[in-house]
Amino acid sequence: MSYTIDLSGRVAFITGASSGLGAQFARTLARAGAAVVLTARRVEKLKGLRAQIEGEGGDAHVIALDVTDVDSIKSAVAHAETEVGSIDILVNNAGVSTTQRVQDVSEEDFDYIFDTNAKGAFFVAQEVGKRMLARAQGSAPGTYTGGRIINVASMAGLRALPQIGVYAMSKAAVVQMTKALALEWGRFGINVNALCPGYIDTEINHHHWSTEQGQKLMNMLPRRRVGKPEDLDALVVLLSSAQSHFVNGAVIAADDGFAI
Ligand code: NAD
Repeated sequence: MSYTIDLSGRVAFITGASSGLGAQFARTLARAGAAVVLTARRVEKLKGLRAQIEGEGGDAHVIALDVTDVDSIKSAVAHAETEVGSIDILVNNAGVSTTQRVQDVSEEDFDYIFDTNAKGAFFVAQEVGKRMLARAQGSAPGTYTGGRIINVASMAGLRALPQIGVYAMSKAAVVQMTKALALEWGRFGINVNALCPGYIDTEINHHHWSTEQGQKLMNMLPRRRVGKPEDLDALVVLLSSAQSHFVNGAVIAADDGFAI
């Protein structure tokens, strides 16, 4: 006996797909059968990923998006729906971080992080959510197949860590945003959940692991290891699927036990 999740016929919109977790989420959802819309600012990188996904027999589309620009969000979502179809799955993944002590954070640093991680994630979810709501309300009772929004927060949104205070604050905002959206949209068949990864080796932190501080941090982790992007594959597929219809407003840590 086996258990499978099939996302064929579903359209997934992934932000920050040009590297790291976003690129991996896109590859994984495409392998599960979804048509994936790859969005980020670095279009050339997205084209490379599209070629890779198409090479594996997947269906991928590239659209430029800067999540700090609400007009860019509106036009990318509209473009995706025209070119590919109604969005069933949103992976709200784009994010940035800086490292400094809280007393050294400038207004510019603060805005940089909050504009992307909190404000950007909110308006992407709002734009996609509005369209999901319209579909839910326009469908005959019981026929809407459901929307899925996965907000990529962080275990730093659950536990404060030194030198990334503002990042942690922005991800705590994503956690609470997830609950607020889940509360208002759940009854329309739109499930909104937060994924809180622990340390995963990607572009955002790759330089850090070879430094003395990075090594020290790794030794503090419960199993003294940093994750790989593919460690989140199963969760992202599950949260994107119809099978997760009973999971709404959940905040799921995938951090090898670090937030305990
Ligand atoms: P990454 O730097 O490789 O990916 C971040 C992506 O977001 C990039 O593709 C980047 O271009 C994109 N992005 C940044 N600003 C953007 C903007 N204004 N508009 C559109 N796209 C933008 O890092 P990652 O580790 O893959 O991070 C992905 C998400 O996972 C982020 O939200 C991050 O905070 C979160 N996260 C990462 C870790 C980790 O250890 N790697 C842990 C917890 C949470």
